[in-house]
Amino acid sequence: MNIPITDLPRVVIIGAGFGGVSLVNDLEKKPFQVVMLDKRNYHTFQPLLYQVSTSGLEPDSIAYPIRKILKNNKNAYFRMADVEHIDSDKQLIHTNIGEVTYDYLVIATGSRTNFFGNKSVEDNAIWMKTVPQALNLRSLILENFEEATIAEDPERKKALLNFVIAGAGPTGVELSGAIAELRKNVIPKDYQDIDPEEIHIHLIEGMDKVLPPMSAKSSKNAKKYLEELGVEIHLNTFVESYEDHIVRTSNKDLSFPTETFIWSAGVTGASVEGLKNGALMKKSNQYNVNVFNQVEGYETIFAIGDIALMVSAEYPKGHPMVAQPAIQQGAHLAKNLLRTINKQSLTPFEYFDKGTMATVGRNKAVVDIGKIQFGGAFAWFVWMFVHLWFLVGFRNRIVTFFNWTYSYINYDRAARLIVRPFKAEKIRSPD
Ligand SMILES: Cc1cc2nc3c(=O)[nH]c(=O)nc-3n(C[C@H](O)[C@H](O)[C@H](O)COP(=O)(O)OP(=O)(O)OC[C@H]3O[C@@H](n4cnc5c(N)ncnc54)[C@H](O)[C@@H]3O)c2cc1C
Repeated sequence: MNIPITDLPRVVIIGAGFGGVSLVNDLEKKPFQVVMLDKRNYHTFQPLLYQVSTSGLEPDSIAYPIRKILKNNKNAYFRMADVEHIDSDKQLIHTNIGEVTYDYLVIATGSRTNFFGNKSVEDNAIWMKTVPQALNLRSLILENFEEATIAEDPERKKALLNFVIAGAGPTGVELSGAIAELRKNVIPKDYQDIDPEEIHIHLIEGMDKVLPPMSAKSSKNAKKYLEELGVEIHLNTFVESYEDHIVRTSNKDLSFPTETFIWSAGVTGASVEGLKNGALMKKSNQYNVNVFNQVEGYETIFAIGDIALMVSAEYPKGHPMVAQPAIQQGAHLAKNLLRTINKQSLTPFEYFDKGTMATVGRNKAVVDIGKIQFGGAFAWFVWMFVHLWFLVGFRNRIVTFFNWTYSYINYDRAARLIVRPFKAEKIRSPD
């Protein structure tokens, strides 16, 4: 991999997501050689992927080059590589571009979409975990509108204009809200030959409420906002299959013809092959880690973020798979790595829950911060501020702020381009 051998201990980080980037930033100017590996050459701000899918933002507003993140760290190297296998006996990582040894290994590979073994969904649905997938979804939505303007068969037109989303977590809620806003604000101007009343957005959720992890108040508010936008919500309903453009559910009377079935009903750890039995919790595909983020059975292998399962009395199922635990674990591990080389004992990680939020649409969001819960326009402004704050890169913040201001004033969406058709090509990109 052309990484120089030095006297510095080498930390290899797999994954430049929230956890990996937080760690590498805090290792700057510290006595380590850092090798960062990622299969992409950019960091993705996943919370705003839905805006790319629904024509709100261009992808370069929510992605950031990894090399630029490392530019001030003279001892850091980036290699675009897909990690295939870890050989812990030899302290060696095998990738599609070669091998690299480590003194300390940090697995920060995040998660991938979980289909819970449903093959018909995996083969035919669309999902959104990466920038290429978000662009696929954007193309699919816009191609469907284009085709609907000329569709003569009413059944086909119905399928083109039915948007079905499985999973009413933050992603499902944000996507359905954003498609409903497209119907309300863009369709009447751009597609005068489509009657907005013919467009239906169905949100399917297995539990009895939307946004299950949030407070009862926020969940109720989010449902109300979605209904105000005309999203049709089906609770206590499970998707059984998606074949021949029909979504079938656990309710025999409820099936939907659709060309757009979006799966946002779950994730599972993006583990890498090679560690001993016991390191991986099979059910969730996450690495069992102790309070120092050390993977079970190893002293020099750590896991942080979505891929780490740190069970405690307060979090019996591990931390929520959101950005904050990843960011905080990355920062904490940087301190512990330094303590290790200084022969000091490690300090345990403690998660500081800063709250949860989700947006539904213009002036509509919900926020839970401890016992404080609020919704509406103020929550929406808080949501926008927090997302701008955490976006990586000054340029990205400015461009996103400009886009949002423009959309707010003009009720418009700037990025309505079918740059790379999805339907014709059926480009499926892995997580
Ligand atoms: C659509 C969507 C919306 C979300 N919205 C929110 C939100 O509003 N708020 C919130 O807090 N959280 C949200 N999340 C969750 C949040 O993005 C994750 O919890 C967070 O990204 C986890 O960080 P991480 O560092 O563990 O992994 P990630 O950020 O997923 O990064 C993992 C990195 O590892 C790389 N990688 C994986 N496998 C390999 C391999 N084998 N070889 C090389 N590289 C590899 C990937 O390319 C990626 O860059 C959302 C997630 C999604 C998908």
